[in-house]
Amino acid sequence: MKIHRRTFLATGVAFGTALSIGTLKPGRVLAAGAPYELPKLPYAADALEPHLDKMTMEIHHGKHHNAYVDNLNKALKDSDLLGKPLEEILANKAAAVPDAIRQAVINNGGGHYNHSLFWMTLGPAAGGEPKGALGDAIKSSFSDVKTLSEKMNDAGLKRFGSGWSWLVKTADGKLDVYSTANQDCPIMEGKTPLFGIDVWEHAYYLKYQNKRADYLKAIWNVVNWAEVEKRFAGK
Ligand code: MN
Repeated sequence: MKIHRRTFLATGVAFGTALSIGTLKPGRVLAAGAPYELPKLPYAADALEPHLDKMTMEIHHGKHHNAYVDNLNKALKDSDLLGKPLEEILANKAAAVPDAIRQAVINNGGGHYNHSLFWMTLGPAAGGEPKGALGDAIKSSFSDVKTLSEKMNDAGLKRFGSGWSWLVKTADGKLDVYSTANQDCPIMEGKTPLFGIDVWEHAYYLKYQNKRADYLKAIWNVVNWAEVEKRFAGK
């Protein structure tokens, strides 16, 4: 906690105000501080066209993500957990959260965290190949990015209903791909999410309708690998 507070002060960013997520250190997706706030998109809503369309981005960020933030604040309004880092709140399957509000916090806290990470790990004129230690780890774990993308897309396609497909760093530092339901966040299971693909229909339906597979293929054109690399390095 203290390290992060110092980081924000050192960079001249006021603690607890709305931040552009593009300015945050990768190891920390969200600014703590009550109440939680919707982070700004780090690029224009039409910047990921034609792969992710402007209207989907506006509704996904401004309505869906915003609702998770509002409902998280409501769920925690009488709790001293309000404003604490979500990494702490969601750890150990949100064990620190009282039973009566735990599922609401998992749904909306996970939703807030997952979407904040999602915006940050996408970008215009992105895609391509990861470099450095992450590039090496992908080669040794999956042989290449194409195989990784096929594995993540397969996990996303097989997710029945709503959820996410993830590239994570496990507790022993290895890469893994798997899917979670709803807004369940890998942090709940002690994993570090590096890059997640939202496979809820709201993420793709306006442009791709029922063709989830086409959306999954397209998103690889706008992965911000520099950001994913930093998260893998823990920077
Ligand atoms: Mn979503």
